[in-house]
Amino acid sequence: MIQNFQGMARRLVTLLRQQGISDPNVLRVVETTPRHQFMPESLAHKAYENTALPIGKGQTISQPLMVASMTQLLMQHHCQKVLEIGTGSGYQTAVLAQLVERVYSVERIAELQYQAKRRLKNLDLHNIQMRHGDGWQGWSSKSPFDGIIVTAAAQSIPQALLDQLADGGVLIIPVGTERQALHVVRRFGDSYEQKQLGDVKFVPLVPGALA
Ligand code: SAH
Repeated sequence: MIQNFQGMARRLVTLLRQQGISDPNVLRVVETTPRHQFMPESLAHKAYENTALPIGKGQTISQPLMVASMTQLLMQHHCQKVLEIGTGSGYQTAVLAQLVERVYSVERIAELQYQAKRRLKNLDLHNIQMRHGDGWQGWSSKSPFDGIIVTAAAQSIPQALLDQLADGGVLIIPVGTERQALHVVRRFGDSYEQKQLGDVKFVPLVPGALA
C-alpha cells in the first residue's frame, strides 16, 4: 500500500517541468492526483515513474509526460467541454476533470470502464460522463466539443470526431500504426487546419466491436 505519494509525485512534476511542461495548473493536478490508484496494486510502486504501465486487457495507462503534454495543449486552447476517447484507467479523465468544466469519456472495454468509474467516484470527481461505446463514432448527442483528446492511435482521423468539434475547437489524436505521430487539428467553420507534432507510442484505436 502506498500511504504517502506526495514526495514521489513532486519528483515526477520536477521531471515534467524539465521536459517542457510549464502550465502551473497541469503541474499542480499531476502532483495531487494519486496515479497509483489507477493501476493494479502490484504495479503501484512504479506509479510515479514517467512510464506507461499495463492495466489489463492488453491496455496501458499512458506515460505521465504524454498525459501532461496533451492536457497542456487542451489548456492552451481554453477547452472547457472535452471529449476523451479511450478512458482506460481513468487517469487522464481524472486530470482533465480537475481542469475543465465537463469531461465526456468513451471506452470500448466494459470492465476497464467499470473500474475507471469506481476510481473517479472515489476521488469525488463528478463532472464526468462515461459511455461504453466505440470511439470512432465519438459521442454525437453531447457534441459539439471544444476539445477532443484521443488516447489510442487511429489509422486515420475519424470523420465523426471532426464533425463533433465546435467551431474553434481542437482535436488531439495520435495517428499511425507502427510509426505514430501526434496530430493537432483545429476547426474554423467548415475548414480544418492540421499540424503534426512528434512521434508517439499508443495502443491502437480498435475499430468496431465493443468488449
Ligand atoms: N487515457 C488512458 C489510456 C488507455 S489506453 C489512460 O491513461 O489510462 C487506450 C484505451 O483506448 C484503452 O482502454 C482501449 O480499450 C481504448 N480503446 C481502444 N479502441 C477504442 C475504441 N474504438 N473506442 C473506445 N475506446 C477504445
